[in-house]
Amino acid sequence: MEMKYTIDLHMHSSLSDGNESPCGVVDTAARVGLKKICLTDHDGVHLNYDKVREYAKTKGVEVLPFMGTEVNTLYYDGEKPLVSVHMLVFGEDEKLKDERFLSVIRNYFAHTNKLAVDQYEKLPEIGVEMSYDDLFLIDPDVAPVYKQEMYCASYVMKMAAKKLGVAPGELRAKYPHLFPFNLPSRSVFMRRVVDMPDTVELIRLANELGLVTVMAHPSWLEWLWEGDQHLRNNTLAEKVIRELAAAGLDGLETKHQEVVADGATELVMSLADELGLITTGGSDYHAEEDYGNGLGVYGTTEEELAVLMDKIREKASRAAK
Ligand SMILES: [Zn+2]
Ligand SMILES: [Zn+2]
Repeated sequence: MEMKYTIDLHMHSSLSDGNESPCGVVDTAARVGLKKICLTDHDGVHLNYDKVREYAKTKGVEVLPFMGTEVNTLYYDGEKPLVSVHMLVFGEDEKLKDERFLSVIRNYFAHTNKLAVDQYEKLPEIGVEMSYDDLFLIDPDVAPVYKQEMYCASYVMKMAAKKLGVAPGELRAKYPHLFPFNLPSRSVFMRRVVDMPDTVELIRLANELGLVTVMAHPSWLEWLWEGDQHLRNNTLAEKVIRELAAAGLDGLETKHQEVVADGATELVMSLADELGLITTGGSDYHAEEDYGNGLGVYGTTEEELAVLMDKIREKASRAAK
């Protein structure tokens, strides 16, 4: 597909469920011709992000001077939890590392942590025997910020693969019972739902802390109640967007490969316009084989980036007062 954008504000590394380390994502960005990127790993904050910035300089890519994360939140329709809304949160590094923000996303992490600990305990079965700390240090570049309490299940799998010198996908194919792609049981799944931060509360907290919220792939919501599947629904999306805008949402990710069908782009663009929301875009890159084809096709313009950066600065300075 044609490369239209050189700025990408939605990318995942092996800190969450991407296939490549943060520096590996930078390599990919450089290879396809991206100029400015922001990593937005799920529900986490990078510990060594400055290292990634330094590395990117050597590759002719700018890792932008703010941080991002994609938070799984739970949207309530009145009293009833209805869908999961993925919220991109952008902000100054120190603001994103604010303990109040981390504590909100940490609850949700508890469930992933349980999966990760289960996986870790089974590693001797595949010939990987090492302490938790040593596992962590196999690739400090991808170390999550919650060293003591958070291990992303995919992180454990990737580190084990690295230790064995095989690709993570190979490990998953060989030991599907150890490294299931989907969450293994409804009870784990329900716990996950219960621990998700409330969408509106997350927006309020972000506003208090001086962080910017951008609803990711706004017409594509995560339907939680009959299996873990995604749901494209413009009518529901419009209702959610209007309510979140009233609660203080800052922006919409209008350019994303899941926001193209059924007039979704037109809908979210017109809502952004009407409600005065900023707009961004990104590839949602995880790995070459799935979202790799969105690289450069969905992205953010220089004008949009300037507006976002102004917003980050403005909100941060307002929060500091
Ligand atoms: Zn998402
Ligand atoms: Zn994403």
